[in-house]
Amino acid sequence: MLTITLSKGRILKQTLPLLEQAGLIIAKKELNSRKLILDTNLTDVKVIIVRSTDVPIFVQHGATDMGITGKDVLLEHGANNLFEVLDLGIAKCKLMVAAESKNRLKQNTLKVATKYVNSTKRYFQNKGQSCEIIKLYGAMELAPKVGLAHCIVDLVDTGNTLKANGLIPFEYIEKISSRLVVNIASFRTKNAQIKSWIQNIENSL
Ligand code: AMP
Repeated sequence: MLTITLSKGRILKQTLPLLEQAGLIIAKKELNSRKLILDTNLTDVKVIIVRSTDVPIFVQHGATDMGITGKDVLLEHGANNLFEVLDLGIAKCKLMVAAESKNRLKQNTLKVATKYVNSTKRYFQNKGQSCEIIKLYGAMELAPKVGLAHCIVDLVDTGNTLKANGLIPFEYIEKISSRLVVNIASFRTKNAQIKSWIQNIENSL
């Protein structure tokens, strides 16, 4: 048996066609059901769908053999006990620093609202910029408006969300896309099966 954890939402939409091309099909009936462990067209492959931030946890602990999640999640979570084996080139975006104006970034201690606490700390530390991080779980764009922070660090795709909230992306931190990850122990014990899936998926890119 091979188990794969997929990320809900935006990533899932782009993952399903890719997997289908690689030979793994999850029927609509399964996707729409309330089941937590989904059957596929292959009797020896099962799929779990969770929030992208939980994917590394399932894979790290060997609850599933493989997973698909965003590089943003992997950078934030760390990659202990898992291999990042493939860049799928889907759900592409950028992790960026955005503010109302460039002047707002000129602070002795910059107040930054983000859910990417570790990536943000690392970025500003490397720049030698002192910062105070305000962890939010959503609606980061609000923080500069209400004086909670000087700037935000968030994912930017089209830039429409920033624009609609009067923010401009000034600094680029990291290029983001979804990655295929594999539990290290599974990679050893199910090597042939996993390698063949990596190859199938790579061929579908
Ligand atoms: P946009 O308005 O197209 O720049 O999209 C920005 C919003 O979508 C922000 O709330 C981001 O957190 C979210 N977002 C953009 N790209 C991704 C992605 N690849 N994965 C998850 N969230 C994303």
